[in-house]
Amino acid sequence: MTRDDKFAAPADRAAAVADALIDAGRLTEEDLDGVQALEESLDWRNGTKVVARAWTDPEYRQRLFSDGTAACAELGFEGPQGEYIVALEDTPELKNVIVCTQCSCTAWPVLGLPPDWYKSPEYRARVVREPRRVLGEMGLDLPAEVKVRVWDTTAETRFIVIPRRPAGTEDWSESRLAEIVTRESMIGVALVELPKA
Ligand code: FE
Repeated sequence: MTRDDKFAAPADRAAAVADALIDAGRLTEEDLDGVQALEESLDWRNGTKVVARAWTDPEYRQRLFSDGTAACAELGFEGPQGEYIVALEDTPELKNVIVCTQCSCTAWPVLGLPPDWYKSPEYRARVVREPRRVLGEMGLDLPAEVKVRVWDTTAETRFIVIPRRPAGTEDWSESRLAEIVTRESMIGVALVELPKA
């Protein structure tokens, strides 16, 4: 075995493990297809549609904050790690931020799998202790009068932040609004901003 074999790319190692499990009769090709289909359905862009709907439909917005799971399911976003979704409302006075200090949980149906920085021990440890400073380092400087509230994911609860709708988008369509919503803004570490001209 050469050094290159020993340190094969993760995808190659995963494929080798899958082949071995299939040979051993522990796994089928159908199992693998199911996992792949699930992974592809876990797209953070789903969440942007929830946000855009909440911005444009006051009744939906109300339903979203009273039962996040049901309101996300209305748009077709439900499934594993989305059994109990709580939507958090940003206001001019309050900025919500989410973290999973235990590990790296996100609401899969609307936020997808977590980005690497969200999984980092540094983010998980520091955002609860000095959120304002961590947000500043990530490029979000909040005025002193804006309160920051950090929500720690638990075994059951998954959060999605509903950021504020930027001024100047009053006549925008729902689909156009969805395009400017970012994953970071739904985790709470960024605001939604108009694209730079
Ligand atoms: Fe977690």
